[in-house]
Amino acid sequence: MKVCIVNFDHLKGINKDTAGGFGTKFSVGTSLFSKIIERMKWKIKIPIVISGYIASIFLEFGWTVCTNCGENYPQSDFYVIPITIVDFENELRIAKLAKEQYNAKIILWGPFLKVFYNKVKDFADAVIVGEPESSISEIARTKQIKEKILFSNPVENLDKLPFPNWNVFDISKYNYWTVIKAKPFLPILSSRGCPYPCKFYCPYPVSQGTALRLRSVKNVSDEIKYLVDRYNIRGLVFRDPIFTLRRERALNIAKEISKNKNSIEWGIETRIDSLDEYLINYMADAGLKSIECGIESFNDATLIKNFRNNNTTINEIEKVVSFCNKKKISLTLFYIIGLPNSSVKDVKETIRIAKSINSLGVQFTIFTPYPGTPFFKKTYGNRIPKNIKEFDSFTPVFSNINHDVLLKLKEYAFVSYYFRTKWLGKYFLRIFR
Ligand code: SF4
Repeated sequence: MKVCIVNFDHLKGINKDTAGGFGTKFSVGTSLFSKIIERMKWKIKIPIVISGYIASIFLEFGWTVCTNCGENYPQSDFYVIPITIVDFENELRIAKLAKEQYNAKIILWGPFLKVFYNKVKDFADAVIVGEPESSISEIARTKQIKEKILFSNPVENLDKLPFPNWNVFDISKYNYWTVIKAKPFLPILSSRGCPYPCKFYCPYPVSQGTALRLRSVKNVSDEIKYLVDRYNIRGLVFRDPIFTLRRERALNIAKEISKNKNSIEWGIETRIDSLDEYLINYMADAGLKSIECGIESFNDATLIKNFRNNNTTINEIEKVVSFCNKKKISLTLFYIIGLPNSSVKDVKETIRIAKSINSLGVQFTIFTPYPGTPFFKKTYGNRIPKNIKEFDSFTPVFSNINHDVLLKLKEYAFVSYYFRTKWLGKYFLRIFR
């Protein structure tokens, strides 16, 4: 039996592994400066990490696994297609094409399907709702689809999963430019789930749940050795929502990384309040090059601050910026603008403070109510809004600030941040030091 695991390496600006698997579509604006920033960001290419697991499971059961090359879709008995909020029309087009051309069995999966399965079920033989590995294992083992809608249980013991297999994917395309320059580059997941209370708006608990599931340090270390031996990787990014949530474990993983025969450049996502100088220094000495942290907003009146359980002060953020500077780690801070109840003044204040903090990287996303979150449910009930494909984190879909004004503020945020003497000075100092 042959299965095609569809991937989307060729789409510009769309990243389907972000926002907990809902995907994002990066855009800044229409000016020349905006286009320069967009071109830089579009260079980043990461695969959907779960696709590597799906490939591995099919291979374990003796299937032939392939993928598409751009718009060339090979003949296969089965097609596995991730459904995202940012590109579902295109994804469903591929499902239709594979059915018409090859009469392939179509399997759709993705966190968006928790609320969207009724809209896609006519395109599929199976719609997987939930973490896909359990249902994929069952299909791979039996070579059959028993039901149209498969409610797939989360994997309780992550150590029992096979390591992702990247053989059919063109890994030479993947990179995390500019923060991790080393290639070959691949993503890795050492944990799933996030227990913080910001699940009210955050998409990660929709896809991974709120219970923290950790792989053992040995299992993570074995995967890294396997990635080095098989793919010669030199760059890695941990896609865990909060990599340093268990401090001791983070230190132990860093220690294991430093033992590899390749020196590895790596990156993590985490929270400011789970970082400290010793931990940063230790990870930096083991090759850490990039840290990404969500800050969201500095405005107490907005919803996010209340649900995020985040009392981090500007002073604490600045300390982490300075620790990262000393160790030449790229710190990227994520801000959200257009929060419910926020005003133009609030957004400008967030931009102003972001500039005064002056981290090496920033992201200004626009508040987006993700389907499956309590916030979405409270706002839309069971209804899917007509403009759902615009829920891409960079288009205003829900704000009391006027749509065009918010778009202009986003453009202003990026352009005025990056085309600034204080930031440019820092950037060139980092390059030439
Ligand atoms: S800590 Fe981060 S990943 Fe976890 S729920 Fe909050 S925003 Fe989401």
